[in-house]
Amino acid sequence: MTDRPSRVACPTCGKAVEWSAENRFRPFCTERCKLIDLGAWASESYRAPVSEDPTEPDDSGPGAGTS
Ligand SMILES: [Zn+2]
Repeated sequence: MTDRPSRVACPTCGKAVEWSAENRFRPFCTERCKLIDLGAWASESYRAPVSEDPTEPDDSGPGAGTS
């Protein structure tokens, strides 16, 4: 087998990065790129709808509200 570190492309800037244990920012090239990507990810999650659907029927039990 080989001990050579594989190379990955930094998800933020696309720069070739060595995937090694010494690179604690992997797969990013720098801490800056890592923070940028994490920030983007957080924005994505905040943008996703998390509130319950108002059209969802109240699931309090069978026959509820049909007395
Ligand atoms: Zn980068």
